[in-house]
Formats: sequence, structure tokens, C-alpha cells
Amino acid sequence: MASTSLHPALEGARACVFDAGGTLIHPDWERLAQLAEEAAGRRLGAEEMRRAFGEMLKCVNEPTPGGRVIDQSGRHWTFRAMYGGLGLDEAACESLVGRIDAAHEERHIWCGCDPDAPRVIDELKGRGLLVAVISNTEDGRVQEALAAAGLAERFDVVVDSHLVGVSKPDPAIFRHALGLLGVEPHEAVFVGDSYAHDALAARAAGLAAVLLDPLDLHPGAVCPRIHRLGDLLPREV
Ligand SMILES: [Mg+2]
Repeated sequence: MASTSLHPALEGARACVFDAGGTLIHPDWERLAQLAEEAAGRRLGAEEMRRAFGEMLKCVNEPTPGGRVIDQSGRHWTFRAMYGGLGLDEAACESLVGRIDAAHEERHIWCGCDPDAPRVIDELKGRGLLVAVISNTEDGRVQEALAAAGLAERFDVVVDSHLVGVSKPDPAIFRHALGLLGVEPHEAVFVGDSYAHDALAARAAGLAAVLLDPLDLHPGAVCPRIHRLGDLLPREV
């Protein structure tokens, strides 16, 4: 018989707060592949970009002595570092920053909806939970990204770091969102894909955390991990 309970981390919770990028919405891998082909003549696949992106974030989150150092300055540093990790040279990476800028201006580059996101959000709301987003952005466009992914109308609260002037991992951004929701930290669960900026930061702010770790990059995490958002819901049989 199928279980009807949500993930144990959500037991008794009044609110579920999500990170946006890499959690609810994903980069438009097809456009990023096209840009790389134009800039460097290489055809990259979505899967290798997804893995390179995840490994790059892991270097940011858990720097190791002698390990790869990621330059976190400049526009689109995450994609720049991802392309660098896939072996594109410095000149190609530099030219890609401008190309991503132009593409992103036209349509948000994070416009891919996570395949599980709509039903997970709807199920949580159907069970009476408040559902919110806290996103670190460079340009204040998270609402636009959520709209491009078809998710915009589903949230009780959306907090964009660029618009409120404070970013994860600062506990103040969690307090701000919870204040808008009218929920205490211990009544909320945060779900995100960054170990440092989501999981550890949320825990430091008093929330419970669930790490979305689809590539199994964080076996030593101090909080529960899920492989996909659908793991928050009762299992289907
Ligand atoms: Mg993220």
C-alpha cells in the first residue's frame, strides 16, 4: 500500500520554502549548448553541463585545500565556471558571458521548470502548507524566471535577494520571508540544492532543511537529502 505521508522532514511543518535556481527552475541547457557551439565550436550535452554545473557549485560550497578555486566575480560566473570546467578556454568563456547576457535579456536563461515542481507545490498547498521562494539573484528577475517556467502564480511569498538587499546565507533573508509568511523558523522547512547557501544557511536561521542532491555530491550532509523534488511527496505505486 502506498504511504500517504509527506517526507518526514515536512511532518508538522506550516511552510515549505524553496530555493529557485537548480531547485524549482533550471538553466535552459539547449540555449547554453547553442551559445557554446557558436563561441567555441563544441556541442555540449545537457547532462554533461548539468554535472559540470553541480561539481562547480560543490567547489564553491566546500572548498578544499589545493582544490579548484572558482572566481565568483563578474556576470554569469556560474556558467562561465561551468564552461571552464568543461574545458572551454578563457577567451571562449569570456565571449560566452556576453552571449549569455544577450540571450538572458531576451528570455530569462533560467526558464526551465523542474518536472516535479508543479505537482509538488500543488500537493503541499493542497495539504494546507504555505509555499514560498527565497532566491539569490544578480538582477532581481526571479519572478520573471518563475513566470517563464510557468510557476509564478503558485507561491504565497517570493523573496528576491537583489530586491531586498540581503542574500543567502544571511539569516536575515530567511527571517524576512518567514515574517511575510507569519511563520516561526521551527515551523518551516527549506528545500534547496546548495549545501552552504540553502541547507546550512537555513539550519543556521532555525529552519529545518532538505538538500536536493540529484547527483549524490553530498553524502556527508548533516540534513536529509532527496534526489528529486518528487521525493517530498508520498511514494506512488
Ligand atoms: Mg540553487
